[in-house]
Amino acid sequence: MKINEIGEFGLIGRIADAFKPLIPNGWEGIGDDCAMIPWSDNRSLLVTTDLLVENVHFLRNRISAYELGLKSLAVNLSDVAAMGGEPVATFLSLGLPSDTVTTEWSDAFFEGYRSFGVPLLGGDTTSSREGIVINITVLGQAKNSHIKRRSAAQAGDWIAVTGPLGDSAGGLQALLQSLPPEADTSELVRRHHRPRPHLAEGRWLGGRAEVHAMMDVSDGVASDLQHILRASSLAATVSVPELPITPLLQRVAAQYGWDAARMALTGGEDYVLLLTVSDAGLEKLQAAYTARFGSPLHLIGRCENGPSGTIRYLGSEAQFTGFKHF
Ligand code: ADP
Ligand code: MG
Repeated sequence: MKINEIGEFGLIGRIADAFKPLIPNGWEGIGDDCAMIPWSDNRSLLVTTDLLVENVHFLRNRISAYELGLKSLAVNLSDVAAMGGEPVATFLSLGLPSDTVTTEWSDAFFEGYRSFGVPLLGGDTTSSREGIVINITVLGQAKNSHIKRRSAAQAGDWIAVTGPLGDSAGGLQALLQSLPPEADTSELVRRHHRPRPHLAEGRWLGGRAEVHAMMDVSDGVASDLQHILRASSLAATVSVPELPITPLLQRVAAQYGWDAARMALTGGEDYVLLLTVSDAGLEKLQAAYTARFGSPLHLIGRCENGPSGTIRYLGSEAQFTGFKHF
């Protein structure tokens, strides 16, 4: 059978089954944004890794070296934020076509990488015949009582996100269509290239008992929410008119005939946090969150009992599926 017949998550499922017997008691491995390893009586080490491949995840002549260094680390830091943790250290492995990559390029890459102020403790470097390959591992830590798992959503929970959806997809679309770099399209491209991992939000939300499940939005809410729902054996409704879509994306979408709601749900790479919140605790949480961060959590739907992983989209004729790697 070819891998694309079982899909990315079919393959990951087979790997998880094969290694389950080797995972020590109290450790948690495949299935969440980070692995969790008990560290002390009340803390865990968090570990996450991501791979970025030239021409799959980025086009070298469209993203600056600075932005590539920044984004490569940002997507990993976002997974630590998603657990309610804080980053401690990073490791970086690079495959570089050494005949075309310059020291100016690598200096700028490391400047972007350094911009988060998290130490780099090691890695590996090799030549590559197939373009630039970047693998980053981030170690983080969190109090056990603050860790938020994908599996903790409950029926009746509100579904929320910590920031707007779709801008990154708009930036990618602007790049793919080679749109003229006007102020609006340039800003969307900037957001696509410079995601901000929601570390402060994640740490804060980790400390709140009203928050049940949490993850980050890398593939788009349409597929990422399914992960929470499957892990929690729940279904959900999502209200399409409630999706936080920026006026910026709305303007550009209207200009070029894009479907902004579809971009918001399926585009991915927004790296905001997706969380579920108990109905009873919502009001208190919302007030405290707004006081702390100056803007509210965006409520986009509710969890409910029903066929595991199914999402009904309200206020839209279309239904949506998320980004698939293969
Ligand atoms: P994220 O986008 O949060 O990094 P992914 O969707 O990439 O998560 O992966 C989902 C889960 O599967 C994670 O727990 C990740 O560690 C695990 N995973 C992905 N690929 C592999 C692999 N090749 N081997 C083992 N675990 C994997
Ligand atoms: Mg993630």
